[in-house]
Amino acid sequence: MGWAPTTGGTSPSSRKRRTPASPDCGYCIPACPFGVLERREGQAEQPATNGVAQKCTLCYDRLKIGYEPACAQACPTKSIQFGPREELHQRAARRLEQLHDEGRDEARLYLADGSDNGIGGAGAFFLLLDRPSAYRLPENPVVPTRRLKEMWGAAGAAAGLLLAGLVVAALGAGKK
Ligand code: SF4
Repeated sequence: MGWAPTTGGTSPSSRKRRTPASPDCGYCIPACPFGVLERREGQAEQPATNGVAQKCTLCYDRLKIGYEPACAQACPTKSIQFGPREELHQRAARRLEQLHDEGRDEARLYLADGSDNGIGGAGAFFLLLDRPSAYRLPENPVVPTRRLKEMWGAAGAAAGLLLAGLVVAALGAGKK
């Protein structure tokens, strides 16, 4: 199954990744390759969700009983669509062709190729009318864990420099 906002798809909720259950640890905030998650603050009328990073659950409770996600059902222009991935791909390809025929040359599909694409594949894809950056979406999203090697390398180099500095300082102090 897939889920595809088909025109723009830029609402924050439509870009949030689904998580069936969240422990509210907040790790998802720095880990989100799209930079869209943040803690919900200052909702006095809803104190239970204060400080919580809320995410799209893909309406898991509705899917379990055979309904489509609420946003797909409620969207008046049917810009958000839900269904079998292949079917959505075919529909999106037809719409894209139509847009190109109308001279909307910048229109493109985003995250639709099904490849690993830096985030291990996506459950949703988008038909954008412009470059992803026009919607403040990364051109090539990458999950931070893919950069762990490079991050640990930089941390190791910094630790090495610090240690070398300490040794030099200790040797300098010993000569006095
Ligand atoms: S209505 Fe459901 S599927 Fe749509 S954004 Fe909200 S939680 Fe996700």
